[in-house]
Amino acid sequence: MRVAVRCAAAIFLTGCAQGVQTNVSPAIGPRTRAERTNYLETSRYADVMSFLDSLRGRPELTFGVIGKTNEGRDIPYVIASRPRVSTPAEARALNRPIVYIQGNIHAGEVEGKEALLAILRDLSTSSRANVLDSVVLIAVPIYNADGNERFAHQEQNRGSQNGPEMVGVRANAQGLDLNRDYIKAEAPETRASLAMFNAWDPDVFVDLHTTDGSYHGYALTYAPPLNPASPLGEWTRDSVMPVLRQRMQSRHGFATFDYGDFIDDDTLSKGWVTFDSRPRFGTNYYGLRGRVGILSEAYSHDPFERRVKSTYAFVKEILSLAAERSAEFRRRVAPSRNVAIRSEMIAAPDSIGVVAEVVERTGDSTRTQPGVPKGRRRTGRYTTVKMPVFERFKPTLVVPMPTRYVIPASDTQVVRVLRAHGITVGQAGQSPPNMQLVAEAYVFAIDSAVAAARPFQGHREMRLKGAWRKETRRITAGSFVVDTSQPLGLLAVYMLEPQSDDGLVTWNFFDAELKPGGTYPVFKTGGAPPTP
Ligand SMILES: [Zn+2]
Repeated sequence: MRVAVRCAAAIFLTGCAQGVQTNVSPAIGPRTRAERTNYLETSRYADVMSFLDSLRGRPELTFGVIGKTNEGRDIPYVIASRPRVSTPAEARALNRPIVYIQGNIHAGEVEGKEALLAILRDLSTSSRANVLDSVVLIAVPIYNADGNERFAHQEQNRGSQNGPEMVGVRANAQGLDLNRDYIKAEAPETRASLAMFNAWDPDVFVDLHTTDGSYHGYALTYAPPLNPASPLGEWTRDSVMPVLRQRMQSRHGFATFDYGDFIDDDTLSKGWVTFDSRPRFGTNYYGLRGRVGILSEAYSHDPFERRVKSTYAFVKEILSLAAERSAEFRRRVAPSRNVAIRSEMIAAPDSIGVVAEVVERTGDSTRTQPGVPKGRRRTGRYTTVKMPVFERFKPTLVVPMPTRYVIPASDTQVVRVLRAHGITVGQAGQSPPNMQLVAEAYVFAIDSAVAAARPFQGHREMRLKGAWRKETRRITAGSFVVDTSQPLGLLAVYMLEPQSDDGLVTWNFFDAELKPGGTYPVFKTGGAPPTP
């Protein structure tokens, strides 16, 4: 199928060339399982591994594994760059954006996996100048490899998806949703990806998904980091996404929009609403690391082939834009000294026209298309309705950034997870050497500790209420100390603040120590006094 492209086509030139065709059936190199089956099937793990094997020996590519899944599968990565790099130091020495792109976190959402394989092939086939001369691409095509192998019918594994017929499942082998695991890091897959983030410090993280909601008019929807504490979140929203949107339309003919769903399918004018700001979600998490995160959601009601192509085009445009605006994508913005640790969703300033597809009742119980409920039929007729678009968040609780947090020596599990995130944790009596051992401290007095009524991901999320007070505290030898002036200081604040909406309190790391009338075991020193 021909897709009209005006520039930056199959070889992703960063400048604009005349009309070219998106590379669909490559003349050179291996074909993905999706391509070989005319998009009737998606790749099994073995298909991915043999496809990657067939690319070995190409001078731009380095192969490795980020770690192992629960079931012992290697999770492969490929680093693509000219010149080739095989270590983080080599990548940094090139002074160009490092872009980390992940497919298959939800293993029923299969086009990211296929698009990434095709992109690796197409970029490394080309002998002409391309984006690999300007960025370092780290591709992880089959992140949830165990979930991928639990093939079942789309109707069972991906209820509202238009093919392929057999796909994997959402969760990993522990039953965890990896896109809710970025803070608590319970899955080996998450810990492996955190280790990659720590080692390579990518400037951009892209997570490839498929929608499963409303009938809209967009081939792909997207989100920047939504957490208001993200230093580059607004910039990504206001300066990156509109350019990608415009290029997806003009160069590829794909309409795109902010990720979301209609609030009410019967009364569209009520609005369009995005998902969540909390960092349990990968692209929000990545924002709190001070970098750019981009969520990509291909439209589940589009045929598989079109979803692969829209995802391919989106990835391509992200790489091109990062190459073009290298300095902006690589800049470091200091986080605000007042950190938003809870927030609520609000609408963009003006109401916006959102495109919906008209879906009608057939009057019987036949299924008209995979992924469409029985008795409903898509019409191919679209309507644009002006409505409020809820695609951003505003802080509802802000705390001043302290100089440091002090964690009891016995909280070793907390320290382990902080270190897994790449946060530097010292220990009193060892480092830092000049720390005062008696300090004016801010201590959080607990009024209530309430666990959620319903379990979620094997947890009952905890919510603390209380007030800060000032007192003199001894920093006993062996206590752990987290300095917020470190590169991941903002993330440390978000994880350690007792009232954070997605911190270690939330995920039950401190449950045994939380008593109404008592104090939160972690105290803080320095910085402006928190509001009592
Ligand atoms: Zn998903």
